[in-house]
Amino acid sequence: MTPTEEIMNLRLGMDIGGTNIKVGVLDERFQSVTFHIRPVRETDRSESGMMERLVEMIGEVEREVSPRYGILTSVGIGIAGIINLREGIITKSPNFPLWNNMALGVGLRSRIKLPVFIDNDANAATAGEALCGSGRGSDHFICYTLGTGVGGGIYLNHHVWRGVDGMAGELGHMTVEPEGRPCNCGNRGCLEQYASLQGLKRFVAEHAPADLQPDDRDLPKIMAERAAKGDMLCRQAFESFGRYLGIAAAGMLNALNVKKVVLSGGLSNTMPLFLAAMRKEIHSRSFPAVSQGVEILKGGLGDKAGVYGAAVLDVS
Ligand SMILES: [Zn+2]
Repeated sequence: MTPTEEIMNLRLGMDIGGTNIKVGVLDERFQSVTFHIRPVRETDRSESGMMERLVEMIGEVEREVSPRYGILTSVGIGIAGIINLREGIITKSPNFPLWNNMALGVGLRSRIKLPVFIDNDANAATAGEALCGSGRGSDHFICYTLGTGVGGGIYLNHHVWRGVDGMAGELGHMTVEPEGRPCNCGNRGCLEQYASLQGLKRFVAEHAPADLQPDDRDLPKIMAERAAKGDMLCRQAFESFGRYLGIAAAGMLNALNVKKVVLSGGLSNTMPLFLAAMRKEIHSRSFPAVSQGVEILKGGLGDKAGVYGAAVLDVS
């Protein structure tokens, strides 16, 4: 990216994860002008510590980009958890158990004097894919973020559908097995327990092959390599993954009749191993007119979907 003479309005996005904070800035054409990843420090685990950290990071990035590209006009934040969108309050975040109704929106706004937009990380990823990724040019699509768990987003008529309470799009918590594995949300048999890293771990734990450990840090990579070489158990694991994802997606497609499914998150890289099983379920469980022409696409932004999506929360 070359510096420009023209002064542009810039949007800053932050994706606050359990181990890293990603920050990026987009120009008016939704092109990236900078991107950084910083580790979460112990002091960031408290509410006041995180507030200071964010103010400091925003200041640093502003000093970096303002002289070259333009002025920061908004800040968007994506974070996993239950979020009160209207008040900008993080009711609960799985990665920050010490926080209790953290008033991030109001607090940050008063410090940095810019509009602040907050949403959960999966809605942010959906917004990112909509404006800058695989959903670009689409009026409507659904998005699954496949990682440790399963996040989701519903994009309808050029907007993320957030629902009455801001809780829409929890696609990972659709029931796919009525008496299935218990889920952290209180339900059982949620999609998240099958089509995620947690799901792969459970599959390995239940089948207990001698040469695979559920807690291996590289489990998905090892399983994907073995499946690609024809290992039956690993192939079955990804087929099961795709089957459950297809069952859930068929329900969503019957409900919404959209023609695009975007798969984001780290495990979307294993798509070639589960896509056929996913498609099969979609075709057998949704109306022919619904499933006809449905595209299943890998997200275009990789692990930057959340951060760039956070940057465009104000327009999505
Ligand atoms: Zn659940």
